[in-house]
Amino acid sequence: MTALLVDRIGLLVRNVDDDGLPDELPDAAVVVEDGRIAWLGPAAQAPDADERIDAEGRCVIPGFVDSHTHLVFAGDRSAEFEARMAGRPYTAGGIRTTVAATRAASDDALLARAAALVAEARRQGTTTIEIKSGYGLTVEDEARALRLASTLTPETTLLGAHVVPPEYADDPDGYVDLVTGPMLAACAPYAKWIDVFCDRGAFTLEQAERILVAGRDAGLGLRLHAAQLGPSPAVRMGVALGAASVDHCTHLEPEDIDALSGSDTVATLLPGAEFSTRSPYPDARRLLDAGVTVALATDCNPGSSFTTSMPFCIALAVREMGMTPREALRAATAGGAAALRRDDVGVLRVGARADLALIDAPSYVHLAYRPGVPLVAPLTASPGG
Ligand SMILES: [Zn+2]
Repeated sequence: MTALLVDRIGLLVRNVDDDGLPDELPDAAVVVEDGRIAWLGPAAQAPDADERIDAEGRCVIPGFVDSHTHLVFAGDRSAEFEARMAGRPYTAGGIRTTVAATRAASDDALLARAAALVAEARRQGTTTIEIKSGYGLTVEDEARALRLASTLTPETTLLGAHVVPPEYADDPDGYVDLVTGPMLAACAPYAKWIDVFCDRGAFTLEQAERILVAGRDAGLGLRLHAAQLGPSPAVRMGVALGAASVDHCTHLEPEDIDALSGSDTVATLLPGAEFSTRSPYPDARRLLDAGVTVALATDCNPGSSFTTSMPFCIALAVREMGMTPREALRAATAGGAAALRRDDVGVLRVGARADLALIDAPSYVHLAYRPGVPLVAPLTASPGG
């Protein structure tokens, strides 16, 4: 087994401080063996290793955990984006455009596109990524999307309930029967999670609850798109059902904050969606002050947030959502890990996965201070996200 020493780290950010070392360790080093962290501590005390990387005083962080993406799709919606920027509002209906293109695409084309987006995310420091289905909306097409996604990440999510497909426009409850019956049965072998888009133009609270309960009964973990387009009791429903994460949380009422703060459900904020739909940003400050665990994710999808850049989301969170640079970094790493109920990523401690990202700067503050600049790259990461 080969040991790799990452030496002369100017600042090591760990998201953990219960192991006798500080959360932020200056002048640090890390030893990696077999994809795991074997040792970390002050550089002056670093043990010998077979290989050595010199970080030259730069900042090392846990790789980003992007806990919310929709990467299996075909087609392009730049014209829709252009029209929206010219004043047309965002609705859930544009998803159907991508559904038509995705159904018509070959397996090879879908996988190549998704793999290219995963690689793009990785180049920007993302080492764990969740991928949802949701542009097939038939039993075969949803199972296909998840089968392809499962070759790229273990964090796969059935989002058959993204929108009601055109062929069920007159019978949305019939579509819910399909999702909770044959679609769930065909997709469960390839999915770890189930998700529902519960908002106007998508699924009602009652339909969303039926789908989540069926998914839970099939052994899947629960996630939920809620309160993106307006206030909704869906956030509280997600908490009550034990969802790992409720995502968007753009329009929260005081009762939603109370429910989240007393739970282990993560509030995942997706500021790329607000940016790309020119909508008001969620109030992260209010969530953090209430003690809610907050995650940041890209929501990468061709309609409402076509970015794979976690640093971009961090910059938005700091500039627009009241988060400090440290809070935004934590949300993009440990927060995402909590949203996926993972304790082996998003933190740097002995035994955790050695998913290290290097910032070409002395501090993580530069992630927001230098927006749009490609400063982050993966340093070491075990394969298979
Ligand atoms: Zn989404």
